[in-house]
Amino acid sequence: MPVCLSFVVPVYNEEATIKPLAKKIHKVMNQEGIANYEIIFVDDGSRDGSWIQIRDLVNQYPTQIKAIKFRKNFGKAAALSAGFQNSTGKIIFTLDADLQDDPAEIPQFLQKLDEGFDLVSGWRHQRNDPLSKKLPSKLFNKVTSKVAGIRLHDFNCGFKVYRKEVLDSLKLYGELHRYIPVLAHGLGFRVGEVVVHHFPRQHGSSKYGWERYTRGLIDLLTVFVVTRFLYKPGHLFGNMGLIFGFLGVGSLTYLAILWFIGLGPIGTRPLLFFGILSTILSVQLISLGILAELNTRHVDSDYIDKQISEIIGGKYSEQGLDKITFSSNVSIQ
Ligand code: UDP
Ligand code: MG
Repeated sequence: MPVCLSFVVPVYNEEATIKPLAKKIHKVMNQEGIANYEIIFVDDGSRDGSWIQIRDLVNQYPTQIKAIKFRKNFGKAAALSAGFQNSTGKIIFTLDADLQDDPAEIPQFLQKLDEGFDLVSGWRHQRNDPLSKKLPSKLFNKVTSKVAGIRLHDFNCGFKVYRKEVLDSLKLYGELHRYIPVLAHGLGFRVGEVVVHHFPRQHGSSKYGWERYTRGLIDLLTVFVVTRFLYKPGHLFGNMGLIFGFLGVGSLTYLAILWFIGLGPIGTRPLLFFGILSTILSVQLISLGILAELNTRHVDSDYIDKQISEIIGGKYSEQGLDKITFSSNVSIQ
């Protein structure tokens, strides 16, 4: 029986909650009558007994539990990517290992997928975390939502579900896991959200503090550029270059006219320095744009495939082109 649901769980020092989490998922799957599912634990270089717990589970349920172990801590995005690559389900859930998410919510995620969404993200409406985490998170979500042009309230929620096509279309690295909904939205997938319960952390400690949001904002810049300019970087740099070029040449022309009509020396005017700097910057930005364009010609030529959701019709190859005749009685030999 092919696997229909995969659960990817990134684990970094969560020994106390691994078994209870697996138990809860099993329970929900039993209730829903789903037997063909797999749970993939990715041990992201834990230094506690997490791997022992995971190995026990694999021995106990060898068909349903899969485990991947990293040599050292590479971060949540890397753990998720490894889980995605090794998942065989058509629908893939991600859940944190710390039991702050409740597997009992799985059915409502599936229901939302059924409504036609490709990705459904959890929204921890009543988040049970310290204020020092909640406030920056609120700001982060507001900014991301504005910049990305996508109405989600909680980008960082670890509880999400994806159709396989979504994940096949994305390249994850660094800490970009936070932006999967943005990247997916950029590729035209339908992104929705459901309100989920969120429990306080009972065991272990959080791996992130407020500082993730400063790094997060740099990543947001990356995502902004990636979703809008990945295949036309020349436009990003070119547009900036043109603006500076216009300002620079404009200022210099103005000063040149003043000089010609004898309206005083211009050598000490700040506008002269502004004009020269803007013109140089403009040439550099436009050159950078051209270089970036040349670079995209060499990488990732399969990107068009990622933009297509379906291809139908067009059975010419079976018929053979030589048999096609046109109404004007011209035929292809
Ligand atoms: N995690 C991970 N690698 C890391 C950091 C975190 O696999 O380098 C896992 C962690 O074990 C948990 C999930 O990512 O399952 C979310 O981490 P955490 O609960 O610390 O984040 P928070 O809920 O505090 O935002
Ligand atoms: Mg947590």
